[in-house]
Amino acid sequence: MKILVANCGSSSIKYQLFSMTAERVLARGLLERVGDPSARLHHSTDAGRHELDVYAPDHSSGMKIIFRILADPEKGVIKSIYEINGVGHRVVHGGEAMIDSCRVDNRVIAIVRGNFDLAPLHNPPNLAGIEAAMEVLPDVPHVAVFDTAFLSTLPKKAHRYAVPADWYEGHHVRKYGFHGASHKYVALRAAELLGKPADRTNLITCHLGNGCSMTAVAGGKAVDHSMGMTPLEGLIMGTRSGDVDPAVVLYMLGRGLSAQQVDAALNKSSGLLGLSGVSNDMRDLLALSHKDGDPRAADAALAVEMFVYRIVRYIGSYYAILPGLDAVVLTGGIGENSVPVRAMIVDQLARLGARLDEARNGQTVNGRAGQITADGSALGVWVIPTNEELMIARDTKRIIGSVVPRY
Ligand code: ADP
Repeated sequence: MKILVANCGSSSIKYQLFSMTAERVLARGLLERVGDPSARLHHSTDAGRHELDVYAPDHSSGMKIIFRILADPEKGVIKSIYEINGVGHRVVHGGEAMIDSCRVDNRVIAIVRGNFDLAPLHNPPNLAGIEAAMEVLPDVPHVAVFDTAFLSTLPKKAHRYAVPADWYEGHHVRKYGFHGASHKYVALRAAELLGKPADRTNLITCHLGNGCSMTAVAGGKAVDHSMGMTPLEGLIMGTRSGDVDPAVVLYMLGRGLSAQQVDAALNKSSGLLGLSGVSNDMRDLLALSHKDGDPRAADAALAVEMFVYRIVRYIGSYYAILPGLDAVVLTGGIGENSVPVRAMIVDQLARLGARLDEARNGQTVNGRAGQITADGSALGVWVIPTNEELMIARDTKRIIGSVVPRY
């Protein structure tokens, strides 16, 4: 069985073609600057890498270019696009209706469109991608895999905000959560590595990339999560603030900023970038924070310190609400690679019984999974590289095999 996974952003399409027999990636690529005259396709297979200037004025033409290269006699990996048995589409917001991945039909399309307001930057291109792929392969099952679905098990006490009830009832104001495919993938993998059934595993999973989020998982199900109605709430991120007093927004509006300016400030110039004034990239900040004599070093160090502090604070609160804790799992670009940030997190979890194994921490990089705490540590901290695309491919395969629509 071959499954194509598509992830459409506003100006890009990422894709991976899987052979599901051994869960092998046959081809992967990125079409960037969709809608711009300088659109470029990066395509790679076991046989080589290709970079091509392409004409992709919209997602529909972009998707056709991707199907064409997959079946290209020289650069492709399949003889015909009809070898593809299903297409899995990443969709950011499924709202309350979508509690699982789901085969795309008119109702699912209406739900994705109905959530445009809740995810204005993501759901419209996600839907454009679905429609474009369905145009090319109308007779093949298409599956929508929602970022929000794994978080749909959050109980009311965790997902409601203490605001007037009609904000929820009339305007859908609640916590939804994001990065669901990543949290689900690492939670399942952690259960495997711990040798426990997934439905008896209690975890705190931390996705630390440009966007950062954390999930409390009890018996394999998400019971709390750090992102909110939008991906702005919670941890400090590359350019997003995470938690702030909501009155700060009103205060800054009162100081003369427009709603758009406040929105842009909180989403694009806050977080690590806002604190350091220099970069949203953890590597830059770690390097800068150790540069003697550089006047920006103190701010860079503070950004890193606050990033870690917020994570530890959330871990503490999730520890308190979980029925037990088998492991803390770190993933995402920072979780998978940043040896110093991981060391800081584990050191600050000493009160919960975590003890760092420095050698393990140093070795668990470049896509390796493993425990970075010492044997006998009362709390285990694990690094598990995420694989959202594989999770989407697996879900697509599962949903194609079932006939009942799941909403
Ligand atoms: P996205 O959320 O966009 O998918 P990633 O998961 O790739 O992002 O994570 C990007 C972050 O990972 C950046 O802050 C980057 O600095 C960080 N990162 C990647 N490699 C390393 C490394 N070796 N050390 C520290 N940080 C790293």
